[in-house]
Amino acid sequence: MRLLASDHYFRTRPFAEHDKECSRVGTSLWEVSQHEQLRLRVAERGGNYTETTTRYLCRECGVACLVRTDSRPDETTLTTTAAMGYGSPPVRQHGVWLHPGPLPAYRPGDGPDLYYLTEHQDAPRTPAAVLGLVCHHRTQRGALRWSAGVGLTSDTYSVRRNAGDTTFPSRGAAVRWVVAEAAADRALAVKAAEAFR
Ligand SMILES: [Zn+2]
Repeated sequence: MRLLASDHYFRTRPFAEHDKECSRVGTSLWEVSQHEQLRLRVAERGGNYTETTTRYLCRECGVACLVRTDSRPDETTLTTTAAMGYGSPPVRQHGVWLHPGPLPAYRPGDGPDLYYLTEHQDAPRTPAAVLGLVCHHRTQRGALRWSAGVGLTSDTYSVRRNAGDTTFPSRGAAVRWVVAEAAADRALAVKAAEAFR
């Protein structure tokens, strides 16, 4: 069971809403537990089954939710935030924050092959909050090269503008390119706005 970086960052929603006074409002922070019970059923109707109830609760605001499924969950994947990227602490580099994507299954030793760049420390919740992205690949000779793009459309890797054929020898160099391009875009936007005044 794997989700894309864009699924983790932009296409999950809070499971339920905390009370608006709760310090966790707008977050997905819940205490989660599970209860299983064997239910008896005649053979003609499919036989016995396990009913699973998942309990979500917040001890601060008191919101709780019980979800029942008439079977064991189909699939459960025990993983880590490092493997998913999402949920890991962002990295600060050249004045921006880098939010990691998942570790690639085929080459996890190289680290996440994608980072979303943002101005603020919080994980981006929409593509619009992303300044750009950097990602890496290995050349046929095995050298690590970084690519960069500015802006982000809805897909994991699709950007408004990329560095074309230019690749970078390090993550830092790729990040510097995004920061410079995003600053140039912003200066252009300010100029355009002034011209309309
Ligand atoms: Zn709460």
